[in-house]
Amino acid sequence: QSQASKKGGQGDVELKGITCKKAEDLSEWYQQVIVKGELLEFTDVPGCYIYQPGSYRIWEFIQEFFNKRIRKMGVKNCYFPLFITEANLQREKDHIEGFAAEVAWVTEGGKNKLEKRLAVRPTSETAMYSFYSKKIRSHRDLPLKMNQWNNVVRWEFKHAMPFIRSREFLWQEGHTAHFSEEEAGVEVRQILDHYAAIYEELLAVPVVKGRKTVNEQFPGAHYTTTVEGYIPAVGRGVQAATSHCLGQHFAKMFDITIEDPNQKVKEGETRDKLFVWQNSWGFTTRSIGIMILIHGDDKGLVIPPRVADVQVVIVPVGVTAKTSDTDREKLYGQIKDMSDKLEGADLRVECDFREGYSPGYKFNDWEMKGVPLRIEFGPKDSANGVVTYSRRDQEGKDTIPIPDLATQVPELLETIQADLFRRASEEYAAHRKIVRDWKDFVPELNQKNVVIVPHCTGGDCEDEIKKDSSGNVEGQEVDVRAPSMGAKSLCIPDEQPEEIKAGTKCINPKCGKDAKMWVMFGRSY
Ligand code: AMP
Repeated sequence: QSQASKKGGQGDVELKGITCKKAEDLSEWYQQVIVKGELLEFTDVPGCYIYQPGSYRIWEFIQEFFNKRIRKMGVKNCYFPLFITEANLQREKDHIEGFAAEVAWVTEGGKNKLEKRLAVRPTSETAMYSFYSKKIRSHRDLPLKMNQWNNVVRWEFKHAMPFIRSREFLWQEGHTAHFSEEEAGVEVRQILDHYAAIYEELLAVPVVKGRKTVNEQFPGAHYTTTVEGYIPAVGRGVQAATSHCLGQHFAKMFDITIEDPNQKVKEGETRDKLFVWQNSWGFTTRSIGIMILIHGDDKGLVIPPRVADVQVVIVPVGVTAKTSDTDREKLYGQIKDMSDKLEGADLRVECDFREGYSPGYKFNDWEMKGVPLRIEFGPKDSANGVVTYSRRDQEGKDTIPIPDLATQVPELLETIQADLFRRASEEYAAHRKIVRDWKDFVPELNQKNVVIVPHCTGGDCEDEIKKDSSGNVEGQEVDVRAPSMGAKSLCIPDEQPEEIKAGTKCINPKCGKDAKMWVMFGRSY
């Protein structure tokens, strides 16, 4: 039984805390933590969820951070319709092939069958690019940079998981058009850096930047770059966000062209048409799930200070039935003053003056919600001129002199933020194993690692590795506790461990080809 479900001191209300351990049953733990932490509720539509204010606020912090950065790049926000005609959706062959199995269709309007069914957008390339074709007439219209914050629907049949894999999710999708491949390429990378910054600077989640192998790239893309995360509790990778260069594939299908401004022509002659270079990039509410899975513990959520709606909670302590009204009011008044001071230092503060709940109950309640810093204040603290505090990410208590609150608390929050990131980074680094020999591949996966291996980057070879790393492999000892899922290529990390030496073979013994790159493989969400 967890501490939180015990009766808290003189309190008369019982708190139902998290009743299972993260290390023992991750999926039950995850459900309890997000529901009891008031981030999310389940609905009667499978794979669709209610984002409570607690999680929506985190999403708003992400929006504010990202909007600031993309506006500096000249990106403008806009909105396109939810529905896409079938004719448009099918215009790029690889794109529709990749999405066909997941598209939700509207076939009726009221009592009437629609003459032509409409797709609910799984992504908006095909919803936007007819407009781009109209809007882009000359090189002077380039670059065109638009972004939408919206919802998309992908009718996933894999096991749904709140935030991580849902049928409807919130995201931003940026769509840009450029004059040259080079210019498009620079932007793809800038966006990837911003995605890494959201994860690392806001959510305290480490990611590995890289490029997808052809097998794993976005349907219809020229190439895909990605930030890859890691969930220590299960040792699995997770695709955290992707930034694609679409090349000219969509421009050709949607006729997005300009006249060559550099071509010398005689009077009356027309210039050659050039297709534009396009990018698209998306970041979703999956990020919130990754953050929860990484930082949460057996007491509940742990929210990094920069995205915490409440960064500091102040709980009065030592108030008993014997405390006089005047003494209590004096204490509460001091707490209110401290809260004003902290708010004046731009912090988000809550005073928990709820009646009928013991301090113990309140502590557990705020711990479950992941508030990064708790301040306790009672008559003893008041007499000593200090407050007592407890960090959500650590055991134990310490004190701060009251006059130093407005300087020390912001510093403390930044320390918590940095420590969360440092711990997660160390853990990820410790579980990224360089593997040179196939015999070590599956055993390392079974130790909850992702592996970086010399690889030929071929698609068929990847499929073979997935099959041969999925549980029963001839000649491999079977670990009954290991998940039976095969490993897929997560990315070709930008940071290669070393140059591939001439003559190095692909890790897959059945492949026999020369290795081209170090590729990160792992079981994944
Ligand atoms: P894509 O447009 O396919 O490149 O997807 C963009 C990003 O969305 C991916 O990098 C994932 O992080 C995320 N994502 C993909 N599918 C889902 C899903 N079902 N629920 C939440 N996030 C998703």
